[in-house]
Amino acid sequence: MQKHADFIEFTQIEPAAPISVARHGWRAKCLQRLIRMDLPVPRTVALPAETVRAIAAGQLVDTQRLASMFGEGMLVSVRPSPENPDWGGPGSVLNVGMNDARHAALRASHGAEAADALYLRFVQLYAIHVARLDPDMFAAEPSGAALVAALAAYEAETDEGFPQSPARQLTEVLRSMARAWESTTARLLRQAKGAPGEAALGLVVQDMALGIGPGFSGSGTIQFVDNVTGAAQVTGRFRGQSQGRKAAQQTLFLTRDPRGPSLEEQAPEIFADLIRHGAASRAKLREEMQLEFTVETGKLSIIDATRVARSSRAQVKIAVALAHDGIISREDALLRVEPRALSELLHYQVDPRAPRDRIARGIAASPGAATGKIVFSAADAQASAARDEPCILVRRETAPEDIRGMHAAVAVLTERGGMTSHAAVIARGLGLPCIVGASQVHMSGRERTLTTEDGRVFRAGDIITVDGTNGEVLAGAAEMLEPALDDGFRTLLRWADNVRDIGIRANADTPDDARTARTFEAEGIGLCRTEHMFFDEDRLTVMREMIFADTSSDRKVALDRLLPMQRADFIALFDIMAGQPVCIRLFDPPLHEFLPHDRDGMRELAEALDRPLSEVTRRAEALSEFNPMLGMRGVRLGITVPEIYDMQARAIFEATVEASRRGAPVVPEIMIPLVSAQREVELVKARIDAVATAVKNEMRATFTYRLGVMVETPRAALRAGEIAEHASFLSFGTNDLTQMTYGLSRDDAGRFMNTYVSQGVYREDPFHILDVEGVGELLLMGAARGRERRPDVTISVCGEHGGNPESIAFCRAAGFDYVSCSPFRVPVARLAAAHFALLAPKKS
Ligand code: PEP
Ligand code: MG
Repeated sequence: MQKHADFIEFTQIEPAAPISVARHGWRAKCLQRLIRMDLPVPRTVALPAETVRAIAAGQLVDTQRLASMFGEGMLVSVRPSPENPDWGGPGSVLNVGMNDARHAALRASHGAEAADALYLRFVQLYAIHVARLDPDMFAAEPSGAALVAALAAYEAETDEGFPQSPARQLTEVLRSMARAWESTTARLLRQAKGAPGEAALGLVVQDMALGIGPGFSGSGTIQFVDNVTGAAQVTGRFRGQSQGRKAAQQTLFLTRDPRGPSLEEQAPEIFADLIRHGAASRAKLREEMQLEFTVETGKLSIIDATRVARSSRAQVKIAVALAHDGIISREDALLRVEPRALSELLHYQVDPRAPRDRIARGIAASPGAATGKIVFSAADAQASAARDEPCILVRRETAPEDIRGMHAAVAVLTERGGMTSHAAVIARGLGLPCIVGASQVHMSGRERTLTTEDGRVFRAGDIITVDGTNGEVLAGAAEMLEPALDDGFRTLLRWADNVRDIGIRANADTPDDARTARTFEAEGIGLCRTEHMFFDEDRLTVMREMIFADTSSDRKVALDRLLPMQRADFIALFDIMAGQPVCIRLFDPPLHEFLPHDRDGMRELAEALDRPLSEVTRRAEALSEFNPMLGMRGVRLGITVPEIYDMQARAIFEATVEASRRGAPVVPEIMIPLVSAQREVELVKARIDAVATAVKNEMRATFTYRLGVMVETPRAALRAGEIAEHASFLSFGTNDLTQMTYGLSRDDAGRFMNTYVSQGVYREDPFHILDVEGVGELLLMGAARGRERRPDVTISVCGEHGGNPESIAFCRAAGFDYVSCSPFRVPVARLAAAHFALLAPKKS
């Protein structure tokens, strides 16, 4: 059946025309807003999505009527107008309507050079995008000869002359753009940016405003903020195209500039109009816009406006400035910033404007960028740090013994590993830029070389830059942008704090961590893993003496030496946190973790303990367990070797008295790890209460403290009711709880996690994103049972999930009091929590 040519529907964009984003797309709506503001926009017509879809489906269209809107000698541009600008769309086609007659007329009115260039550009675009001819045949630079050659090539390839009917040209351009939108590649690309499967395209047809003429002419773009920093600044470009005036055939600066002539000086009225139009569109469109404009012999036209492309730091600055100026509300400003984007502002970043000599790519495991000398071992990293030389620790993969090297390095690069491998987790906690799984490079620890895919060899001491935000390793020192913890960042997060309805604390083990927590304005420490305090060289030996003690009194001697060190640790934390809550978890890991694992280490230990090597080895073997994560650790150790918890409780209480005497009163929170039975809590509580009473008497002081339980075994969640009877707070340790609920080792799951996720066995890595269906159910059950017995019990999460926006949404919906996450994730958590409060307000 032959389809008949139909009239196509279109609407001229006028102030009162029925233009909607849903039907005509964002560009059509944006142009209408500019027209309503009386900006000099050339005549523009919008084609709605259903028309474009019909054209793509093969509907024949009669474009005569549309062409006649633009009068004799029509010359128009056609631009895509999807509902959301981020969804892309086919490239714009300019100068539709150009033919031999129009070319001749333009030669007479605007000169041969301009006319030839315009016609050639159109023939090239049409040949490549509409007639789908080989782009190589149409790549010539503008000239009269190139135009003749392009027209001849078109004829030779299509067996017909270049179409001369403007209406036919328009028909073909509309069809090719409509079809390009429906192509599979375009579909996949926009779906990756969040477009729905049925996303539609509108098209915008506009009178060409040429930007050439006998008087002052040209074309350009202007915007009023910097793309990278978001600072107020006029930027853009202007290309003068005045005929016959050599000086005007050049690029001008927009604002006055000592390096050359500027639009501001050469055409002050036009420049002033642009500034005025910019301010008006910012206020009315409630956004920082880039204006595209032309000037034809002194006549300014605004032909398009798009949202200024911007970095994350610019987005924060722009949103806050718009709210400060009363153009948008604070709530809008909050919702305009994607929480995860904030992590880019916390660290140095490679300046996106600077050249990049990329030598490898990997998984962007921890954001930020750093430059340093390559070192291949943790010991070299420490030596380098001692010389005050920034270094990048390069390893095939990292292990727990590399931790001090990681502390000493400014960034970490590993050949192997994924998002949850050791290097990735530790680096995120430390806020160190990190790339893992850079599998195209080869590292040789023995030869101390790093060989890239293209054969370049880097040696120890060579300078490289790790860009952990993009997952790229660069040769040499890249230009950096400083962290942007500026007023805009702080202001936005304060606004977030005013609307969010769940608390955000930080997991902090050391004074440095605590200071970072304060910098990011966490509301206290939700988890201090005290065992990390024992890994320092001077303490490790005492700790080992304690582990090897034969009698309770020997053990006491070692613990008495550890006591002042722990007390000093806690005083430092309390001082830094200045009265904010600090939740200290009692000793958790199996003792075996503190012993050396190789023969040399054992020999050194035997020497330090003044015992035979055989005895040391035998004792170490006796302490080793088949499955230490489920063995004698946490409260099990606390009950079996109670002196350790006694010492820690005493250190906490003595620090409480001392810090409270100097500064804000401290109410310490003491948390018992790995609980699975009520009786465990009763036993530990009785001893801690006794220590508290003793310290009060000895120091003639009064203080209170809160004792809580870490719910990280499934049984603790199930029995949370009776456990809560002895606990002022329950904090879910979702790392262990996930491990034990799935029966999945935290340390070994990496081996098959990718396969499991790619085959859909798990939707996500449950150590990364809380499994709300399984582990989440235990959380809900535990919280409900705890609250039933003790309505005022504080409920929180302190596992890695505490910093993950989806998991925060779950905890908030479940009515938890707070989440606690690593300090560098606190800003993201604060903003994410605000988003949830704004998007899903709680019913009161
Ligand atoms: C947990 O298990 O969730 C937790 C926070 O403790 P850790 O990671 O120290 O075992
Ligand atoms: Mg745990």
